[in-house]
Amino acid sequence: MIYGGTIAPGLHFVATPIGSARDITLRALDVLAAADAIAAEDTRTARKLMEIHGISVAGRPMIPYHDHNGAEARPRIMALLEQGKSVAYVSEAGTPLVADPGYQLGRAAIDGGFAVVSAPGPSAALAALTVSGLASDRFMFVGFPPSQAGRRKRWLGELDGAGATLILYESPKRIHRLLGEVCETLGDEREIAVCRELTKRFEEVLRGPCAHVLAEISERSLKGEVVLVIGRAPAQVAEPADVETALQTALAEMPLKAAAAQVAARLGLPKREVYQLGLRLKNGD
Ligand code: SAM
Repeated sequence: MIYGGTIAPGLHFVATPIGSARDITLRALDVLAAADAIAAEDTRTARKLMEIHGISVAGRPMIPYHDHNGAEARPRIMALLEQGKSVAYVSEAGTPLVADPGYQLGRAAIDGGFAVVSAPGPSAALAALTVSGLASDRFMFVGFPPSQAGRRKRWLGELDGAGATLILYESPKRIHRLLGEVCETLGDEREIAVCRELTKRFEEVLRGPCAHVLAEISERSLKGEVVLVIGRAPAQVAEPADVETALQTALAEMPLKAAAAQVAARLGLPKREVYQLGLRLKNGD
């Protein structure tokens, strides 16, 4: 098959497979074959991908563009756009900008008045959501959790307050610890899905209440790449005394705003009401 044709000048963000090489789209291949230059988070990975699909670099510039060289590499890419050229950008895997470089490059191109085009395709976040079995009408991608334990728990509580299914990326080495904190912060019964090695040979999805999934993996060391999907809090009818107890426990560990968000999410109550109760508790009313 011959890929290519003509593509418009501008910056083309191209999504690439997150595992199975066959997930590349035909349009992604067209863009990679036709672009005047290829920018890539890792030029070796990009070359390999092109090689697999029989696309030759043919003397075109291959520009490394990653988290550590953006400031130096951006002017080179912008200069090509100014000359009316097309530049394709690929990250290491999946969709650029999704926990990957590309945001500042896209911003610079937009600010410079150049076209920014997407060749959409795989992303672990959406692949995980689709297989999680959790509500997909309102979801929030939140990237990697903070590394410090206290901040991570607060972060979870605050995000949960948004009342959306949460999608997190995490290293398999830290997933046990993270699940322990999810159980602690959002409750043992919270429905979650651990989605591992999606589209690859050892693909696996563990679904169920947090404590159950944690017990299931407690004797295992997980390998590969993992996405954690956290369902939102079920609506509950909470007794006032339960709300007070939950608030007091949360207030011992975090500031009022985060405590109110966490308790509201956990008990399915309006955040404002819980916050007001927290204020009264803090003032000793
Ligand atoms: N841009 C990518 C995307 O669109 O999904 C994500 C890049 S981010 C640096 C890498 C993280 O994505 C991994 O640590 C893991 O959490 C998740 N990930 C990537 N591929 C995956 C896969 N095949 N299965 C499960 N998670 C994956």
